[in-house]
Amino acid sequence: MDYPQDDYDFENRMIAPEYTPEDSEVENPLRPKSLSEYVGQEKVKENLSVFIEAAKLRKESLDHVLLYGPPGLGKTTLAGIIANELQVNLRITSGPAIEKPGDLAALLTNLSPGDVLFIDEIHRLSRSVEEILYPAMEDFALDIITGKGQMAASYHLPLPPFTLVGATTRAGQLSAPLRDRFGVVLRLELYSPQELAQIVTRSAQILHIPIEADGALEIASRSRGTPRIANRMLKRVRDFAQVISDGVITYQTAKIGLDRLEIDEIGLDANDRRMLRSLIQFYGGGPVGLETLAAAIGEEAVTIEDVYEPYLMQIGFLSRTPRGRCVTHAAYLHLGMTPPGPEDSGQQSLF
Ligand code: ADP
Repeated sequence: MDYPQDDYDFENRMIAPEYTPEDSEVENPLRPKSLSEYVGQEKVKENLSVFIEAAKLRKESLDHVLLYGPPGLGKTTLAGIIANELQVNLRITSGPAIEKPGDLAALLTNLSPGDVLFIDEIHRLSRSVEEILYPAMEDFALDIITGKGQMAASYHLPLPPFTLVGATTRAGQLSAPLRDRFGVVLRLELYSPQELAQIVTRSAQILHIPIEADGALEIASRSRGTPRIANRMLKRVRDFAQVISDGVITYQTAKIGLDRLEIDEIGLDANDRRMLRSLIQFYGGGPVGLETLAAAIGEEAVTIEDVYEPYLMQIGFLSRTPRGRCVTHAAYLHLGMTPPGPEDSGQQSLF
């Protein structure tokens, strides 16, 4: 079994779609600033542009927007674009960063009329903070209770109208009252290799990296549908291009660079292959429950759900059944293993 070494660096996993500090250096200039620069997600863009236009015509704040989908697909970027298109300020925070109801109250009272407040990982807000958010979203007001018993007093503080843009990787974990308060709910999809190639080409232009079309497509095909990963790979492949060729990213340099990073032609890294192999070798290909799988490969269940699974399911390597996760025949073949099934005995006799 070619498992990765025990010291495999999970934190710096090349294909981790989550944001890492290293991304910040390249992300800022690469983030599209307008809907027209934002590649792909056509349905989302079409709907948003209508809602933004209508809000502008009515001179009202845009209805609250919930964006959901796996990490790295452009939710934060879209929040920035919404604010830009509306020509208002963007305030960014996240569910875990808002610890107390007072933290949220402070954020809300400091907004200017029409501002966009972006809350990333909104499913991680605590119950007490969420309760402050309900009247804020619905009536643009804060209901605050001070004191206890007979000394208790409640205040109703008006807030400026604002747009909440919430982002989550898991819409299912949002409480129903919170979900119901979003007027616009948009799901982001994984990108096609062609769309990612456009993103890579655009990023290369901004970063002044010479790149050939099939070099961009090679990076795109290995980026598991995720712009953040595509941009990160572009940066790494640039290093290879500078050292092994004359700085131009060609198909060949992209291939050599990504092969050396152990990312295969369809974007799987050593961890994906390890998970699929564990499922096959220890559990006969499934079905395996999520928790069992997590324990077997020493990963958090949420990481498996948010990071590994969306892409493996998209390419048809993994299926989710009521009884657990199953590896598909396509995955067996990709790993060079023989799929089980009635044809098994036939194949045995062939050899
Ligand atoms: P999320 O908030 O969903 O985790 P981000 O909005 O931070 O993802 O996007 C990650 C990076 O990917 C951004 O810095 C941006 O450069 C790039 N990106 C995302 N979506 C697009 C897109 N549709 N077009 C071009 N670049 C994109």
